[in-house]
Amino acid sequence: MRPGTAKSKATVSTPLSRFDIQKIKADFPILNEKVNGNRLVYLDNAATSQKPRVVINAILEYYRKTNANIHRGLHKLAEDATRAYEATRTHTAAFIGGVESEEIVFTRGTTESINLVAYTWGEENIHEGDEIVITEMEHHANFVPWYVLAKKKKAVIRRIPITVCGHLDLNDIDNIINPRTKLVAVTHMSNVLGTINPVKELAAKAHARKALILADGAQAAPHMPVNVKDLDVDFYVFSSHKMLGPTGVGVLYGRRELLESMPPFNFGGEMIGEVSFDRVTWADIPHKFEGGTPNIADVVAYHAALSYLDEIGMDNIRRHEMELTEYAIEKLSRIEGIEIQGPQDIPNRGGAISFTDKDLHPHDISTFLDSRGIAIRAGHHCAQPLMRVIGKIATARASLYIYNDEADVDTLYNALVEMRRYFGL
Ligand code: PLP
Repeated sequence: MRPGTAKSKATVSTPLSRFDIQKIKADFPILNEKVNGNRLVYLDNAATSQKPRVVINAILEYYRKTNANIHRGLHKLAEDATRAYEATRTHTAAFIGGVESEEIVFTRGTTESINLVAYTWGEENIHEGDEIVITEMEHHANFVPWYVLAKKKKAVIRRIPITVCGHLDLNDIDNIINPRTKLVAVTHMSNVLGTINPVKELAAKAHARKALILADGAQAAPHMPVNVKDLDVDFYVFSSHKMLGPTGVGVLYGRRELLESMPPFNFGGEMIGEVSFDRVTWADIPHKFEGGTPNIADVVAYHAALSYLDEIGMDNIRRHEMELTEYAIEKLSRIEGIEIQGPQDIPNRGGAISFTDKDLHPHDISTFLDSRGIAIRAGHHCAQPLMRVIGKIATARASLYIYNDEADVDTLYNALVEMRRYFGL
């Protein structure tokens, strides 16, 4: 079945003829909160995004009006809940380029989606001596499952290095992706450096060697148009909570033939075809991977997030974030002692901006900014191998999203200037 662009009823409260930041801000109740006596400036979007009113309301509405278990009930509520849950699947399939809705599996998040592939496809297809290619900039979620699998199977992890500018260094790529390669697992956008990786080019390289490619879209899907068919990836994974939706919902896109050939992940109710004491058969995809009662309410509310993003337009979101990223990098670079990590060429990067201060620990930076109502992240960002590569123990990271504007960046800039004065630097 080819999906249409089924829309949930949730819409942007004021229709946007252009990118109207004030109207968008007004859709996010939490942005009215005060933190430590200051207006909240939320710049920790790479960790998780805030939720618009339509998403919050969708959760309430679901529990008020529709709550029932899905797929098995024969009463109206069960049918309504099933329809709402499956409508999110159809919309998700359309959102990433119009794949088949059966190719969309709901999980708890990106981490679980990757583990699902490692435990099922990986268990069956990775053997001694096989090679799994990752990059030096992977989040632990796209490294540790492959590391554990490789250890168990006596397979080898190969890595694509990064350049000093924070791009992938593809000079030796035809040696790194070679006839022993079975899988290339690469982040579409780095959560630390912001780098957008050439996934399509890597997919061609992988397929030329008869290997598969999994792209980690946790940081890309929320911020730019994604078309998995154009990228020609075999698996694509991302999380609802980083794209205005609730926590506890993840997406695994897998090519139909692959999902059909893979064994189930969680065994139990809902994922079976028939069960007798002697024989068990599996349900068709995607249900064979969704054993047990799923996170129905949050999947339904995730639909409202997708509709909200669609209404603004992923192209518009990308354009807004490019402009704001350029503005932020230019401003932060003016502050003596502050060094931006990662690429500076805006078309090849997103709005996760890591920086360090030559005199201050990132934790101190974050604590100071928090006292001014500014939420950023400090630490290794679940990318400890990358920290070693760039020679840092940690970075501070400001990450942008649709509700951020130049005033937010100015507040960050002024606070950083004030911080350096405060510490006598
Ligand atoms: N991959 C990347 C690039 C991420 O940034 C994150 C989260 O920060 C993850 C994977 C893991 O996502 P989740 O915690 O939603 O499973």
